[in-house]
Amino acid sequence: MDGMKVVGKLFGDGDMFLPQVVKSARVMKRAVAHLLPFMEAEKADATASSSAGKFLIATVKGDVHDIGKNIVAVVLACNNYEVKDLGVMVDCDTILKEAQEWGADIIGLSGLITPSLDEMISNADEMTQRGFTQPLLVGGATTSKAHTAIKIAPHYEQPVVRVGDASLVTEICNKLINPKTREAFAKEVEADNVKQREHFALANAKKDLMPIAEARSKRYTCDWATADLKIPNKTGVTVSDHVPLDQLAEYFDFSPLFWTWELKGVYPKILTHKKYGEQATTIYKDAKILLDQIIQEKRFRARSAIGLWPANALGDDIELYDPKGDILGVFHTLRQQKRKASSSVYYAPADFVAPKETGRHDACGAFVCCIEGVDTLADEFETNGDDYNSIMVKAIGDRFAEALAEYTHQKVRKEHWGYAADEALSNDDLIKEKYRGIRPASGYPATPDHTEKQVIWDLLEAEKNTGATLTENFAMNPGSCVSGLYFAHPNAKYTVVGPIAEDQMEDYAKRKDLDLKECERWLAPNRGY
Ligand code: SAH
Repeated sequence: MDGMKVVGKLFGDGDMFLPQVVKSARVMKRAVAHLLPFMEAEKADATASSSAGKFLIATVKGDVHDIGKNIVAVVLACNNYEVKDLGVMVDCDTILKEAQEWGADIIGLSGLITPSLDEMISNADEMTQRGFTQPLLVGGATTSKAHTAIKIAPHYEQPVVRVGDASLVTEICNKLINPKTREAFAKEVEADNVKQREHFALANAKKDLMPIAEARSKRYTCDWATADLKIPNKTGVTVSDHVPLDQLAEYFDFSPLFWTWELKGVYPKILTHKKYGEQATTIYKDAKILLDQIIQEKRFRARSAIGLWPANALGDDIELYDPKGDILGVFHTLRQQKRKASSSVYYAPADFVAPKETGRHDACGAFVCCIEGVDTLADEFETNGDDYNSIMVKAIGDRFAEALAEYTHQKVRKEHWGYAADEALSNDDLIKEKYRGIRPASGYPATPDHTEKQVIWDLLEAEKNTGATLTENFAMNPGSCVSGLYFAHPNAKYTVVGPIAEDQMEDYAKRKDLDLKECERWLAPNRGY
């Protein structure tokens, strides 16, 4: 309980159970070994008492993912920063009030999903309004150097820096805090941001988008009269409440677990890697101990809801029917418009479902896979000052969610839809996606619109059936949750929508009954005009 003592001392005993945690170097000892490569040698003494500075970090409103944020917090605390972590789904006002009251030297914002980029812009704007002078750091899977330079930095005069991964954060913070280096570094950051903006302006000028009508005339098609379409063995919604955890462990893809700890490589090869092998092996062993404990003590609950429905494509939409043929729901998809040099096909995912006018009966599906209990266990470790295992639990929770998606998809192919009843693939083959069919996820390149998750949630009654909810920005809560669509067409593949023109944006907004401005906001990363 060393950690609680430290927290208590900093806040005063009355505030001991505030959800926010000020991380001190002492709390971090267990994590240190694995993050040592990212610590500055001269500061690697985790018991040193002088503070390098105060760093406030939060995952923005509407977003729940925080593994990367937690790693950043650990790395900084190990480098003698005082770190105040406000947690996830934190609105701008709370972040800025806390920063002011606490006297933060630097503010860090984290986000996983694309709508969080907009939240970061609002935060930067508000910092300007309130006369903030602290540097702003942004990080997380959805952020990029280009977006930071083009969309966020122009809203705030102080340095706005994108942190690509946790290993870079200490050096950045040190340069921003040290009065001797701050000015020169701020200039460097600004110059880099200007370069990014110039590069973007050039790329944008060259962007050549095809009118949507023409792109539609170049859709993917096949001989629908003879296409191998399978009517599912079981249509409607199927719910699984307690998928056995030991079965799911067989479907684990371990590689991303190492990526969490900034070890880039592929499992199992990474275990014998010349430079990282030893560290990777320790992480693997620690993960396995925790994994076995979670399975034995049934600490997680794996829940899934899947749906398969008769379906046809109508333009770029996919209509789903009930047994009587009435429309149950519509998936809206987007079509590629960026002119191609090497292909004459302009894909939309709807192309992989038989068009209504062909008269062929086809089907389409959706899934939500959710792991319950992850945050509870992670919180237990965190309360005991064990940040290392707290982060590890979340990483394992994510692995379980992906394994559940893999397991469920295989069941769909072999049983529910039944188009691959004889499939016999190894886990390695599953990870390499050697099966027929795809399961594109909202927010990913083929299906970038996060708001489509609402359609999935409604059709599957996902909240009732899996416990998972959607935030106001369509992040899935809890974080260890995956969802997407099922396509069975033999030629179905993952594509990238890329930039779209105003004609498609207007058409899409109409199809979804959305205001154009709102639609542009949700699809900001794809807006190509
Ligand atoms: N084995 C990995 C699987 C996750 S990443 C793991 O355990 O982490 C692969 C998933 O991302 C796919 O199953 C699909 O749901 C999604 N995906 C990948 N590329 C996509 C694309 N271009 N469009 C939509 N979804 C995509």
